[in-house]
Amino acid sequence: MPKLYGIGFFISSLRDPDLPAPQELVGHDSRLSLVADYLDAGLVHTRYRGYSWCRLCDIEYSEMGSADLTDGIWIWPEGLSHYLRHHSVLLPEPFLSHALAAPTQSMPPDDATTDFELWLEWSRPRRISRLRESLLAAQSEDDRLAEAARSERIAANEAKHGIGDGVCIRAGCGRPHLTGKVFCSHHLPEMSIDSTFHVHSHRLLKEALRCTN
Ligand SMILES: [Zn+2]
Ligand SMILES: [Zn+2]
Repeated sequence: MPKLYGIGFFISSLRDPDLPAPQELVGHDSRLSLVADYLDAGLVHTRYRGYSWCRLCDIEYSEMGSADLTDGIWIWPEGLSHYLRHHSVLLPEPFLSHALAAPTQSMPPDDATTDFELWLEWSRPRRISRLRESLLAAQSEDDRLAEAARSERIAANEAKHGIGDGVCIRAGCGRPHLTGKVFCSHHLPEMSIDSTFHVHSHRLLKEALRCTN
């Protein structure tokens, strides 16, 4: 199976802490602006509906792009060049030498899969423990707020509908269902949409990443 090497993919949620934060990869390399030009010249591989965002500054999200770019061997997010130019974020040496040799770019075969191993292995020893602790704390806070929001919703649903005299149809539940519903307050279909309760996740992630500034 042909493969593409993924680079420049950064932590985007408190649920995917395996990815590096750009704060952890800041350094000095005089070649970065040339490499940034190479990144900008990449071919569009995949376009997404939402914009990316900078983990280090408040630049407009639209400036960070909404696509992944490729040269046929490597694949990176469209906004990666911003991190090199404005924040001196380093990339693995094999990619830097590749980019500086300015090879002709081409689209990869359709069945190429993306391999993140090189990226993860290169970035792992660069982790900043203070940042990792702050991400963990943010994750607990996110869970705490989500749990509180969930309890509030449960109480509100019970107040709104009233408790019925049958049992919730969710297997193994045993709680009484709400009046006029087949589910109890914990098992209404809306309760399974996690994003309803994790409304603070993105803000908490952004704040946790600021701990090194
Ligand atoms: Zn930035
Ligand atoms: Zn139930």
